[in-house]
Amino acid sequence: MPRDDSHEPHVPGTLPPYLSVSQVTSWLRCPRAYRYRYLVKREPESRSGNLAFGSAVHSAIEWWQGERIAGREPDVDRALRIFRADWTAQTADSLLDLEDRSPGELQAVGEALVRLFVERFTGETPPGAVEHRFEVVLRDPATGAPLPVPLVGYLDALSDGLAWELKTAARKTAISEYALQLAAYSYAVRETTGVRPRLRVVELIKTKVPKIEVEETMLTDREEAWFVEVAVEVYDAITRGAFPPNPSWMCPRCEYRGACRGTVAMKAAA
Ligand code: SF4
Repeated sequence: MPRDDSHEPHVPGTLPPYLSVSQVTSWLRCPRAYRYRYLVKREPESRSGNLAFGSAVHSAIEWWQGERIAGREPDVDRALRIFRADWTAQTADSLLDLEDRSPGELQAVGEALVRLFVERFTGETPPGAVEHRFEVVLRDPATGAPLPVPLVGYLDALSDGLAWELKTAARKTAISEYALQLAAYSYAVRETTGVRPRLRVVELIKTKVPKIEVEETMLTDREEAWFVEVAVEVYDAITRGAFPPNPSWMCPRCEYRGACRGTVAMKAAA
C-alpha cells in the first residue's frame, strides 16, 4: 500500500518557481525528501545540527567580510559574539539533532573556526561582495530550449574572477566531491559576467582540533555543461512527479523519516 501520494504528478502552481543547486542535490540524494521539503513544505520531524552549526559560523564570517567590504576593521571578538548569539538561538530548537556532540562542545569548535578564518584572511583584500545573488537561464543541452524556471542562488563571496564557497565539514573532503555545486557556480558567474571564475573552497573542519583548508580550482566547459544536463533532467523528473524514496545511509538522520516510513500520520499533500 503506498504511504502517500509521492507518485502523483504535480499540478501547475505547485512546481518550484526556480531551481537552486540545493534543490538539484536534494532531489539527487532522495527525491521523496526533496518533495517533502520543497513542494509539500512538510514540517520536519528533526533539524540538522550540522546545517544549524554551518549557518551560525556563516553568519559571523559574513558579518566580518561585510564590515571589511565597507572599509571598516572589524574585530574578531564581535564576530565571535555574532556566532554565539546565532548558535544560542539555533540550539533553543528542541528539534535540533546534534548527533553525539553537545551544544557547548560545538560552540567552542565554532569559535575556533571563526578565529581561524579571520586569522587566515585578515591579510587579504576583502571580496567585492558577500552573499552575492545570481539568476541565470538553464538551456536544455539537447534542444537549446530554456527551462521555464531560472537557476537562482547565492555565492558566499565574489571578487574579481574569484567565487568563494564556505563549507563546514566533519573531516577534510576532496574538492571533487563538491564538483556539481562548483560547476553550477562556475556556469552562473560565467553567464552573468562573461568570465569563468576561479573557485575557492574554504573548508572549516569540525575536528577536536579545528582546522581550515583552502583549495582553489577552475572548471571546464564540459564540467559546466554536465551540471546543466543534470539540472535539466532533474527538473524534467520533478515535472513528471518522479519522487521515489532513495533508502540509504542518510535515512536514520532524515528529517522526514517518520512520514516516509509511515510511522507518523500523513498530512494532506499539496
Ligand atoms: S527516510 Fe530515506 S528514503 Fe525516506 S525520505 Fe528520508 S532519505 Fe528518503
